[in-house]
Amino acid sequence: MIEFDQVEKRYRDGTQAVQKLDVTIEKGEFFVLIGPSGCGKTTMLKMINRLIPVSGGTLRINGKNINEFDIHELRWNIGYVLQQIALFPHMTIAENIAVVPEMKKWDRSKVNRRVDELLEMTGLDPAIYRNRKPAELSGGQQQRIGVIRALAADPDIILMDEPFSALDPISREKLQDDILELQQKIQKTIVFVTHDMKEAVKLGDRICLMQNGQVVQIGNPDEIISSPANEFVRNFIGIHSQKERTPIKEVAAAFPVHAVEGQRIESHETAAKALQLLANTDVLTVYENGQPTGAVTRRTIIQFLAEGVQA
Ligand code: ADP
Repeated sequence: MIEFDQVEKRYRDGTQAVQKLDVTIEKGEFFVLIGPSGCGKTTMLKMINRLIPVSGGTLRINGKNINEFDIHELRWNIGYVLQQIALFPHMTIAENIAVVPEMKKWDRSKVNRRVDELLEMTGLDPAIYRNRKPAELSGGQQQRIGVIRALAADPDIILMDEPFSALDPISREKLQDDILELQQKIQKTIVFVTHDMKEAVKLGDRICLMQNGQVVQIGNPDEIISSPANEFVRNFIGIHSQKERTPIKEVAAAFPVHAVEGQRIESHETAAKALQLLANTDVLTVYENGQPTGAVTRRTIIQFLAEGVQA
């Protein structure tokens, strides 16, 4: 568990990057930080592994103030993935992945097993990739190595700072799928910075939306999209009220649901109205001219609204 307790960061030049942050990130949670450029996401992330010192309040990991950890111990137990991962160009892929396990003095056979296991986990055949140099991999593959390198020594926490934003859209989607699948297996605490709301909605168990160094709203993707805290959130996620006014029959047509009998809604009612009704029921049956023509669930409406979400 990571706890920000009234955490502040003032840089030397007086810039107040974050103020009075009270945020608790649960163990095993995929927690996404999002907000406009300069809102304090990276500062918040880097305070966790002490790349940036806290200037006020207390930051705790599993109840212990981060300043009380041995710095190496802390860093080795927190994986870190950057936008442009810097693999060591003269080392093989296997050596790159093994950096932290080696520092932790794992024995050679354990390190080798771990490297193969991680390569296999992300669909890269160890026989082919183990001995390659980073330059012999595509950008997407290099980034994948960056992710598994961060996992190598089995850290409890993984920090990811826009890890996929330099990739082309297809590699990006693939890596998002991979990390979701991986997270189901490993259940780490992941803190993930992005400025892409679609990515946040896809990956996050919870999303923390920031503005000017402060938290504006924290919630699961469903809550953020269906009940934005204010105009800023609404604008940021790019859900135009237009979209919420879409007749429900269009939502039902865009995201067909296997017909289940639910509470009745007329086809001309809006997506917003349907969301309200779905606070108390799981499924709505859409009626047109007295006939059931489709169904919608909370999930399908959120999917529909998220399609309008902008990066
Ligand atoms: P984000 O990751 O959301 O883009 P940052 O955490 O990088 O935001 O920055 C938050 C604020 O702190 C910005 O106003 C930025 O200009 C400022 N900032 C970041 N690093 C420094 C620094 N080393 N010295 C002074 N100001 C900084």
